[in-house]
Amino acid sequence: MELAEKLRLLAGGAKYDASCATSGSDHGPVLESGSGKQGLKTKTGSIPLIGATAPAGVCHSWTEDGRCVSLLKVLYSNVCRFDCAYCVNRSSADIQRTSFTAEELVKLTLEFYKRNYIEGLFLSSGIFSDSDIVMEKLIEVARRLRTEGGFGGYIHLKIIPGTSPKQIAEAGRWADRLSANIELPTDKSLQYLAPQKSGKLIMGAMEEVNNLEQEAREGRKNNAEKPFFAPAGQSTQLIVGASPEDDHQILSLSSALYRRFGLRRVYYSAFIPVGQPGRGGLLDPRLPNIPGPPLVREHRLYQADWLLRFYKFRAEEILTAAQPYLDPHLDPKTAWALNHRDLFPVNVQQADYEVLLRVPGIGVRSARRILEQRRSKKLTAEMLQRLGVTLKRARYFISLPGFASDGEKDTAYIRRILSDSDGAGLQLPLFDF
Ligand code: SF4
Repeated sequence: MELAEKLRLLAGGAKYDASCATSGSDHGPVLESGSGKQGLKTKTGSIPLIGATAPAGVCHSWTEDGRCVSLLKVLYSNVCRFDCAYCVNRSSADIQRTSFTAEELVKLTLEFYKRNYIEGLFLSSGIFSDSDIVMEKLIEVARRLRTEGGFGGYIHLKIIPGTSPKQIAEAGRWADRLSANIELPTDKSLQYLAPQKSGKLIMGAMEEVNNLEQEAREGRKNNAEKPFFAPAGQSTQLIVGASPEDDHQILSLSSALYRRFGLRRVYYSAFIPVGQPGRGGLLDPRLPNIPGPPLVREHRLYQADWLLRFYKFRAEEILTAAQPYLDPHLDPKTAWALNHRDLFPVNVQQADYEVLLRVPGIGVRSARRILEQRRSKKLTAEMLQRLGVTLKRARYFISLPGFASDGEKDTAYIRRILSDSDGAGLQLPLFDF
C-alpha cells in the first residue's frame, strides 16, 4: 500500500482520540483527492496537502498556555484485537487495515517537521499484538526520532492497555507526554462496551506514570543531569454519552484522577454515534442511539473541569448526587453563583483572591490583575473592564463604590439574561469566565 494511503487510513483512525486536545477540525486527516494541489513528495509516494499548506494527518492542538501547535496525529496500526463498541478500529469493524513500519513513520515525521508542517507527533495504535510488542513499536518511533533524527519536537505517546512498567519507563524517556485512556467512567460500563479492557490496568498505568514522574522530579532536584520523564505529564480521555453515567460521576472521577495521579488534563470526548461499516451502517446495539454527539454536555464538562483545575472548586461544590447534571444553558460558575446568592455581591475592592475567582465574569488573570491594581488605586468600573472583567456578567455579583451593580435583580431574571439559550456559540474560554 502506498504511504499516502496508509497515512489517510491511519490518520483517519486516530482522529477520534481527544486526548491531545486537537481542534476536532473535520477536514483534519482527510486527503484532498483530485484537488489539483501540489502534494508533498516523499521517497515512497506523494502526500497530498489539505487546503493550501497542511499535509494529511496534521491537526492542531493547544498547549497548556494556550499556544496552538500542529501535530502529526496518527495510529501506528489500525489492526486491533479488541472490540470496543464505540471505536471505528474495533476488530469487528469492516474497515481497510494497515500499519506503518517504524522506519516509514520516523521518515514521515522528520520530513513534515523539517518542512515546518508540524511541531510534534501524537502516536497511538490499535492492539495488533501483545501490549508490550505494540508499545515497543511506538517507543521505537520516538527513540529513533530523538536519537537518529535529532527530533526536538513534541511527542505524545499513547500507553497501550496492559503495557508493563518497564515499557512505560522507557516510553517516558522519549515522550513529552503519555496518556492512558480511561474511556468510560465506571468499570461496569467498561466491561459492557470494552470488555477486553480493564479499569484496574488503566489506573495501574496512570499510577506508574505518576510514580516515575515524581521519581524523576526528585532525582533532578539533586542532580540536574538526571533524565526527564515525560516532562509534559500525563493526560487521559473520557467518552461522554456512550454510557449512562451522569456529569456528577464523571466530574468526581476527573477530580480523583487529578488528585491521585497528578494528571495534567482530562479530555472529554462527546460520543459520536457512528454506524458500523460492514453492518449496514447500524450502531452497535450496546450503544445509545442518540441523534448526534452531546457537544453541549462535553463543553459544560470542560468548563466545570476548568473550575476544578484553576478556580479552586471541588467537584462536590459543582454537582451532587441530587443534582447530577450540569445546566446546559448556563456555564457552571454562573450556575453555582446563582445557587449561592447569599455569598454575593462581592466587594471587589476588598475580597480575597479565592473569593474573586468565584465571581462570574472574573477570571484567573483578571482576579490577579485586580489584586495588583487595588494595592495602589481605587477600582472603577472602567478599570475593571480594562483588567479583563466581563462586566455584563459580573455586574450581578459585585459591589463597588460608585458602580450601579445589578446585584439586587432576582435570580430568574439573571438566569434568563446570562443563559446561552441553545448552547450555540459555545467557545471554550482560556481562562476568564
Ligand atoms: S483497543 Fe479499543 S479503543 Fe483502542 S483501537 Fe482497539 S478497539 Fe479501538
